[in-house]
Amino acid sequence: VIREERECHPIIEGLSKRDEINIRLWHLPRFPTLVRLGALEITDSTRRVYPEGEALAHVVGLLAEADVDIIEKRPFVIDSGASSSEIPGRSPQQPRRIDWGGYRLGDMRGSTGVEWLAEDELRGQRGQVEEFIDGRPPERAEPRPGRDVAISIDARLQQRVYQVLHQAIAAHQQTQGWKLIPGASVVVLDVATREVLAMTSYPSFSPQTFREDYDELIDDQEGRPLINRAVQVQYCPGSIVKPITIVAAHEEGLIDLDTRLECRGALHPDRPGVFRCWRPAGHSVPNQHGMITAQEAIRGSCNVFCYRLGNEFCEHFGGPVGGVARMCEWLQRFGVGRLTEVGLPGEKKGFLPTPEWLQRGPLHSRQPVTADARNYAIGQGEVEVTPLQAANIAATLASGDMRPVTLRIGNDGLAVQRLPVDEAMWRAIRSGMYDVVNHPDGTAPGARLRHDGFCLCGKSGSAQTPRWPTEFRVRHAHGEEEIEAGSESEARRLFIAKHPQFKPADLDVQCVAWFPDRPAEEGRSYSHAWFAAFIQPMSGGSPAWSQPAPLAIVVLLEFGGSGGSVAAPLCRDVADMIIEEFPEYVRTQTESDALGSRFDFLDR
Ligand SMILES: [Zn+2]
Repeated sequence: VIREERECHPIIEGLSKRDEINIRLWHLPRFPTLVRLGALEITDSTRRVYPEGEALAHVVGLLAEADVDIIEKRPFVIDSGASSSEIPGRSPQQPRRIDWGGYRLGDMRGSTGVEWLAEDELRGQRGQVEEFIDGRPPERAEPRPGRDVAISIDARLQQRVYQVLHQAIAAHQQTQGWKLIPGASVVVLDVATREVLAMTSYPSFSPQTFREDYDELIDDQEGRPLINRAVQVQYCPGSIVKPITIVAAHEEGLIDLDTRLECRGALHPDRPGVFRCWRPAGHSVPNQHGMITAQEAIRGSCNVFCYRLGNEFCEHFGGPVGGVARMCEWLQRFGVGRLTEVGLPGEKKGFLPTPEWLQRGPLHSRQPVTADARNYAIGQGEVEVTPLQAANIAATLASGDMRPVTLRIGNDGLAVQRLPVDEAMWRAIRSGMYDVVNHPDGTAPGARLRHDGFCLCGKSGSAQTPRWPTEFRVRHAHGEEEIEAGSESEARRLFIAKHPQFKPADLDVQCVAWFPDRPAEEGRSYSHAWFAAFIQPMSGGSPAWSQPAPLAIVVLLEFGGSGGSVAAPLCRDVADMIIEEFPEYVRTQTESDALGSRFDFLDR
């Protein structure tokens, strides 16, 4: 039986009302028999509309035609065409087992974002009317629409965060005079539930005109607008992990709250060029960090304090292998190196450079050394996190609880893990993060809020990064070609896809263009700008630590430079905007208690 004999399928899609009228008037009358048998008809179809446009494009995601794998896994098949009573081995009463939600060629399904995540819920079932020529009554299977899916993202908040981010980048670019920040991400998490309230990735695209714009979108190697930077790109975290290093050192008994370690601008003042603090040895003594406590090390983002902790880890745990391993365990407790469980396709899990990876790594294959521990202690070296992971780290520092992140409303089913950390240590870390913003010696005074009732507590990070390759020259025996790609292996792959007659060994691949297009100035380097923070209620001019922090906010600006001076003010703008325009998200405990009892009253 040819499928077309039994199943209708679209031959033309997306007709306008005008086309429909024309076809009904002029074309259908030419095929009266087909029309009478129902073999040719015009029916209504559905089409996605995207009212939130580009602000929500990455989260909502896109549809694509189901590929062969999907169809094979869950096919839509109508059996041979005989009615059930005629199929051998099947009694007339036995209903046919047809998966009405199955896929066949031409079906659309979610390919990215929540469209992908919630495909099974969103997907409806097709219907069918089967008519018989022997006069039996027609058999009907009614179509069923998919279920609605509600996600935790607040669409209005998402729009506003995207706007604030967009404006900040435009302003930054104007003052710099050239395109400096190719991409950025801002994530807002509910600390208590870890519901994602906003997750933006810049630049974005319009889902409505995605098909028309596709070639242009895919060609943009710097902006890479189709990538959701919040989850699909992992970055060196820089100093935003220093609180983890300090918590770890304290809980392992390497320091206590009063321990003072010395920073004279570099780990070895006689070798000021290596293992430097950002306040280098050349500074006058009063400008160096000096003898400082853990809380002061966070406030001043001291590298040397953390280098010393890296040393301590190695000494205490039997050398660099043990030290690096123990530091990696602590990073992992805060979610580095594992998925957040948000469930989005293509999520990266960050990178945890364990001793095993260093020993067996395809590129390195070397023993860990103390320098690794020192670098990981300040978030440099191979450690990498996604912006969503960084937001979860901020929420974990704020609450003491590690939990998975979700886009679903209500996170009750997901495991809460109370981290084994002393309460006094949490207080010191949070006070240090308060000082980062609110103490005269803090690294991010630009994150001070306009509102008296709340403050930001945060950690800045300026994570050094090499320039990104954007174009490669591929040489082979018969000539050469330039190809846009983000890495050497991608360049090879793209080239061979285009010219399958070549093998990888035939090609000599060389990077010829980078972003940014000029090298960093002498003695300086490029860095991504981070600010990882939480909003804390205030009372009487100081943080009310007895009240829980409602929100965690993370800002990442690629090649943004200094986290303290570039990312922190943007974090402040986002926080101020939320407090002004979305007060329901930062309502203090006493207020929500009052509200709760009001509702209790109404219930009775
Ligand atoms: Zn220092």
